[in-house]
Parts: sequence; structure tokens; C-alpha cells
Amino acid sequence: MVRYIFITGGVVSSLGKGLAAAALGALLQARQYKVRLRKLDPYLNVDPGTISPYQHGECFVTDDGAESDLDLGHYERFTGRPANQWDNITAGRVYRDILAKERRGDYLGATVQVIPHVTNHIKQFILEGNQEYDFVLVEIGGTVGDIEGLPFFESIRQLGNDLPKNSCIYLHLSYMPYIAVSGELKTKPTQHSVKELLSIGIQPDILLVRSDREIPLEERRKLSLFCNVRFEAVIQALDTHSVYDVPMAYHKEGLDNQVFDAFMIDPQSNPDMEIWEDISYRLHHPEGAVTIAVVGKYTLLKDAYKSLIEALVHGGLANHVKVNIEWVESDVFELEDPSIYLSKMDGILVPGGFGERGSEGKIRAATFAREHNIPYFGICLGMQMAVLDAARNLAGITDAMSSEFDPHSKSRHHVVGLLTEWLKDNKIEKRNEDGEIGGSMRLGCYPHSLNPRSHIAKIYGNCNISERHRHRYEVNIDYKKKLESVGLVFSGISPDGLLPETIEYSQKMHPWFIGVQYHPELKSRPFAPHPLFKSFISAAREASLMR
Ligand code: GLN
Repeated sequence: MVRYIFITGGVVSSLGKGLAAAALGALLQARQYKVRLRKLDPYLNVDPGTISPYQHGECFVTDDGAESDLDLGHYERFTGRPANQWDNITAGRVYRDILAKERRGDYLGATVQVIPHVTNHIKQFILEGNQEYDFVLVEIGGTVGDIEGLPFFESIRQLGNDLPKNSCIYLHLSYMPYIAVSGELKTKPTQHSVKELLSIGIQPDILLVRSDREIPLEERRKLSLFCNVRFEAVIQALDTHSVYDVPMAYHKEGLDNQVFDAFMIDPQSNPDMEIWEDISYRLHHPEGAVTIAVVGKYTLLKDAYKSLIEALVHGGLANHVKVNIEWVESDVFELEDPSIYLSKMDGILVPGGFGERGSEGKIRAATFAREHNIPYFGICLGMQMAVLDAARNLAGITDAMSSEFDPHSKSRHHVVGLLTEWLKDNKIEKRNEDGEIGGSMRLGCYPHSLNPRSHIAKIYGNCNISERHRHRYEVNIDYKKKLESVGLVFSGISPDGLLPETIEYSQKMHPWFIGVQYHPELKSRPFAPHPLFKSFISAAREASLMR
């Protein structure tokens, strides 16, 4: 029997609901259960692909090319299960599908309404494709009380009656603020958010309460009494040093046992927490530190680089070092000398990005890393910028540009150009310049092969690679010969021989300089760090020791 855990949030957003769901998923896996995590987002965008990273943080790309919520990244990192396009749905997608059905006449003359048509659609989505799992964790985005969330809350309420008895529970994540002047943690906001849930017919079985300090027993009793939740099922979720301490912390507070209690089952095995103990130990006992400059555009909003930050942490775990990140807004190099910012760095990383602003600064960061032998890792846009550096400063193509930044100039050399067609599963995908923006990129996993003599092939220990992409522009293969003649190696190319996937300088020219057209950070896990991040941090460590 599949068991459902519906996870809702209250009081304020940004409490880490996704992380809580992911950590609970990991705890259930530690008991050898098969777990699936899914996210329902109440906003009206069809997917987060078109939302600014400033508003929504990173857009997480799945193997099958869905542009999805960053919580799916947490789910993958904590459970290792690759998410897919069926693990995230938005109200926009629900309405798009319903309206398409309505236009086709599928509703046979019925008035199409939120209840039952929208709620049925959501319920069907929740219930589909779960046969192989023991537990399905379904997180509702936003906080209880949001107008746009109502159809989703209503759907999970209905499922409480539709599903067999004891096969679904409700977990509510809330927050206790600390009032410094009176020295008290307050229960009232949680009481109100549970009241809000009750008003739409949902009684939580478990309360997971975020707090920045121990919640006294007295306050927990109060929460239990006023929120109508058993005392043992009021669980404190205290801030932790690292997100990877969360599974152990929740386990110690008894969250997994409370889940089994709520389902009225005995767990099938004792918890095997070894991997989380090991990860926590490594995090708390680094044997050194490296500093990596991340030269990007949204550096004020760290959520825009969620997976990247985590992959760097994983690279550190693999090398037993702490990774300090120095965030640099790339446009500073348009006015100032990069050496002020970059000369003391153990590694320079230019991550993915879009648009012209800051691009010249990113090219300058690549030039600086190349000229000063500092390990350089260029991801997606970061690879394209490294190619423009090589074209302009080594190959003498002084006007080399990406057509992303000056689409109308025909006279410049577009060493990076708009992708208009590419192969997907042996079929040609076509796009044109005036097409829709949403979902129009080369998205998801594509295979490519690496030159066996390349540095990157050595790092992977394998020449057949499949990684996740999200891009619209591409290094123009016509410049390969010219760029290779000055030392930039095109080490990985798509199977049709048309799309450069990775570039590098040989280790004779530079200790570690690699660019990849894809996003390796999306596949990194704390217990299985991505080989490129592991190797990059190891090179940075060497650079730091030589200093
Ligand atoms: N803007 C570039 C492109 O569309 C790079 C995208 C990215 O870095 N994800 O190709």
C-alpha cells in the first residue's frame, strides 16, 4: 500500500519546507523504504522556467528536461532519486491542461469549476505513478491561507477521505518567533496557522516547529493543547549548522517514529543513519579550507545558485576541506582590475547565467584565471565566456561575441550563437528567434562523448557522459579548428559532432581549466559528489597549499 504524507507550511514562507520534506524522505529511506517526493506549486506560471531567479531562486532541471522548483534539488540531494517532470506541478499547468480539455469539449457540456474539476485534476496528479513506492511525500508550496493555494489544500483534504484509512497523514511545518524583550518563544502564530488549516478541514497529525532555540516543554504542551496534536507529535526543528545535519537532528527529535505512529505501523527496519553521520562528521571536521570566487550576476540572492553551492560543499566533503565562497558581482570587473578580487582565490567559477549584463566581467574573470594559472570552472555561460576569452585574446578574433548579447549585429564574429536546431532522441528539435521563451531551451539530459586523452575524461574516468542542460546558445563548432590551434581543446562533443559540450586547456598549459555546456551541479549529491566538483576542489586545494 502506498502511504501519503502531505506537507504544508504556516506562519511565514522560507521555513525550509522542501528541506524538511527531503530530510524526512531520507529518514524513511534509512529504514529501507522506497520514497518519492513531489511538489505542488500554487502560482500561475506553467513552470518556474520564466521566473526571475531573484523571485524564485534557481530553476532546477530534471533528467527529462522539466524546469522545476528548486525543492526538487533538495529532494534529489537527500534521497538520490532523480526527479522528473511528474514530480512538480503548478496551478498554471493545471489550468493550462484543464482549459485545453475544455476547448476540446472533453467536459461534455459541464460547467468547469474549481471543485470538482480543478481538484480532481490535482488529485489525479497526486495519485499517479506511485505504485512502486512505499511513501509519497507531497509538499504544498506557499503557506496556508494563501488564496491561490486553496484548490491544492482542498484536494489533499479530499484525499484524506478518498484514500483507505490510515494511508495518509498531514504534517504541518510552522515557526515559533522569539521575542527578545520578553525573552519568550511565542506559540500564537502556530496556533493561528493550524486554525487556518482546520478551517479548510485539515487537522495536522504532526507539527514540526522551526525555532532558533530549544522549545521549552511547557510551550510544547501548549502547542499540543491548542493545536489538537498529540504532545509527542509536536517536534522541534532547530536551526542546524548545515542542511546535511537535518536528517540526524529530526531523527533525534523522533520525527520518523512519529510518522510511523501516525500511520499506526511499526517500521520495517532499524534506521541506518551511517551516511548522514559520516557526512555530518566530515562537515564538522574539515582538514583545511579553500576559497572559491563565484563570479556571477545574482550573487545577492544565494537561492539563485542553490545546487551550485551544494555541489561545492560536496566537492569539499570529498576532499575533507571547507569551501568558502567569495561572491563577486561580475560587472565590477568592467571598472576595476580583477586582481583586486581574484588574485588570492584558490579557484574561480563562472556559473550559468543569462543576458548581457556582467558578461564582459565574466570574460575578464576567465582571462585572469587562464593567465594566472588559477583553477577555472566555467559552467554553461561560464564555458561560453571562457571560449570568448580564448577567441579574443589568443586567436585574435577581437570582436568575438555571443549573439545573446548583440543579436542584430551581423558584422561581428558570433563565436557563440543561437541554437536553432538540435537532435533529441534521434529527432530534430527546432526553434526560431521569435518563438515562445518558456520551455524553448535545450533542456535535460543529453549524451556526449569525451576525447579519451582529455583531462575531463580522466576526471570522469569514463568517456560516455550524460548531463543536464539548460541553454539557448552554443559555441559555434566552425571555430573549433582556429581555437584548437591556440590550445583550447574541444574535449567533448555531441554525438552528431555539432555541439561542443566541454572545453579545456591541456594540463601542460594550465593546471585546471574546464568549461562545460551543461550543469553538473544538478547531479551532485553529498554522498556522491560530482567528479568535476571533487576534482575542481582538489585542484583548488593544491593551489592553496602552493601559495
Ligand atoms: N545564456 C546562455 C545560453 O542560453 C547560458 C545559459 C546558462 O548558463 N544556463 O546559452
